[in-house]
Amino acid sequence: MPVRLYLRDPYLHSFDAAITGIDGNSVSLDRTAFYPTGGGQPGDTGILSTNGIKHKIIDTIKAGDDVHHVLEDVSGIKEGDIVTGFVDWDKRYAYMKYHTAIHIIDGIMVNSYAGKGFSTGSQIYADRARIDFDMDQLNRELAQKLVEAANNIVKEGRSVTVRSVSRAEALQMPNLARTEPGKELIRKLDTIRIVEIEGLDTQMDGGLHVASSRELGAIVLSEFSNKGSHHKRMEIKLI
Ligand SMILES: [Zn+2]
Repeated sequence: MPVRLYLRDPYLHSFDAAITGIDGNSVSLDRTAFYPTGGGQPGDTGILSTNGIKHKIIDTIKAGDDVHHVLEDVSGIKEGDIVTGFVDWDKRYAYMKYHTAIHIIDGIMVNSYAGKGFSTGSQIYADRARIDFDMDQLNRELAQKLVEAANNIVKEGRSVTVRSVSRAEALQMPNLARTEPGKELIRKLDTIRIVEIEGLDTQMDGGLHVASSRELGAIVLSEFSNKGSHHKRMEIKLI
């Protein structure tokens, strides 16, 4: 398993590493700041520079415990080479902001509408994010209210912090996982990584976030769709 630099510092976007393996067009490194696809957050893209040649990374994916950097072209690269990685920062920073935005909206939902609805999934893109809810009463007006409440949290500059807790501690914390697979995971893991938005929301999470809610700027509701009483979809954009 490579040292996952992205977990230690999500703002790190250039780093040196050594190539530990090549599998087809995928390269493994001893350490990496490239986030692999997971938890609704896309894998990073960027550049791997070695021996003066820049190789394009078109995706980063998990492969068991390893992280595979998928290159457009691996020619000229060999195991042991020292490389410098450059994460496509504009895109990654957008992912971090959208990820935090989703947690803020989810937190408001859990705190204000407990028992009435819950999120069933989300997806992050570089220019938008969507959140799905199982909530009969959710309509465009209520979705707009959620976004307004989220913008108040954004303006307050709430801190977003990451820490690890033991399984025993995690089992005492309410709402840490919102889905059945998530709850099952807590029962299996020894330590659980949690993301906390100051005074609002604490949940199990493997993704990357900004340090302060203020970094989000402002959230707008760009789309609302009713896909059935158990499936309402909000799409948000940051401006
Ligand atoms: Zn998350």
